[in-house]
Amino acid sequence: MKAIAVVPGKPNSVHLAELEKPSIDEVPNGRGVLIEVIEVGVDGTDKEINAAEYGNAPPGYDFLVIGHESFGRVVEVGPNVTELRPGDFVSATVRRPGNSLYDRIGHYDMTTDDVYYERGINLRHGFLTEFYVDEPEYIVKVPASLKSIGVLMEPMSVAQKGILQAYEIQRRLRLWHPRRAAITGAGPLGQLAALVLRLKGIDVTVFARTPPPNAKCDLAEAIGARYVSTAQHDFLEAAREFGPFDILFEATGSSRIAFDSMRTLAKNGVLVLTSITGGQGQLEISADDINLDFVLGNKVMFGTVNAHREYFELGAKDFAHAESEYPGWLNSFLTNPIDGLENYADMMQQLTEDKRALKVYVRVRSMP
Ligand code: BGC
Ligand code: ZN
Repeated sequence: MKAIAVVPGKPNSVHLAELEKPSIDEVPNGRGVLIEVIEVGVDGTDKEINAAEYGNAPPGYDFLVIGHESFGRVVEVGPNVTELRPGDFVSATVRRPGNSLYDRIGHYDMTTDDVYYERGINLRHGFLTEFYVDEPEYIVKVPASLKSIGVLMEPMSVAQKGILQAYEIQRRLRLWHPRRAAITGAGPLGQLAALVLRLKGIDVTVFARTPPPNAKCDLAEAIGARYVSTAQHDFLEAAREFGPFDILFEATGSSRIAFDSMRTLAKNGVLVLTSITGGQGQLEISADDINLDFVLGNKVMFGTVNAHREYFELGAKDFAHAESEYPGWLNSFLTNPIDGLENYADMMQQLTEDKRALKVYVRVRSMP
């Protein structure tokens, strides 16, 4: 079967690879699940992997099949699988457990191991192929009514984790009813985080570079969020006008904005850092001010990566909620479909060059 792969360490090596079709017997104890891939989304991580800045091939291979945002359908299950049936629509978690205590209790997204295993990213093949096999633990059912947006499950799980962790941390306050939120970055992750907070009735300001009118601004406004272009307004000034923020979800990919965000939090506020910043950037900051404000304001910031299955399940619930509250909103994300794995070059080109693209994704086979 075909797969889209790269040679890790070799820039611009995206190509079509041949793999053997997997079988459910690869998983012991009759617990294998075979899934046919329907759609797979790509993001900045895939861009970095193809630029040879990130990612490693699985042991025994000199290539890595990419794609970690998956949507598919179960075609066959082993005799000891009770959780799933052929015909079920599913997404899959990305990380696979290592050895730390967190890995052993299903919280592999919180691993303390130095090496982590991620399908399509690090040391495990991904989903940009025709079929894959995995254990039920890593496969999450998606209601058939959500199949047209199932490819957004993985980015949604990352948004869910960041926000749920913020709420967990804020339990320190005994009482916390956030009223003002900010999102920095209006890509899929920022938009999905804005959605989750809007569904909770929170006032949301989305900060992003591109001046309106543009599709990202339209999307934010369609869920009742405010869009502020940082090309037109100074970020810190605008943050004073619409903040200070009880929660800020940082998703720009820029550590400069992450540090600026520290200056916009309300007392007792929480800053969620999600940007994966591969570079070697240096910055001059108002260290005393930031430190003093954090201390005197009892503020918190934390980093968050990846997601385990519970966050996927929460994501599916919020998707259902969003479909009734803002019908069609999620579908308008799916701006750049690519038909077929053979068109991998188009996929990479749209991912790297189309600045207006919200989600580039491959339709591996037609939607059943
Ligand atoms: C993926 C996460 C992953 C992270 C770091 C992101 O693009 O969505 O699942 O943990 O990259 O590799
Ligand atoms: Zn990703």
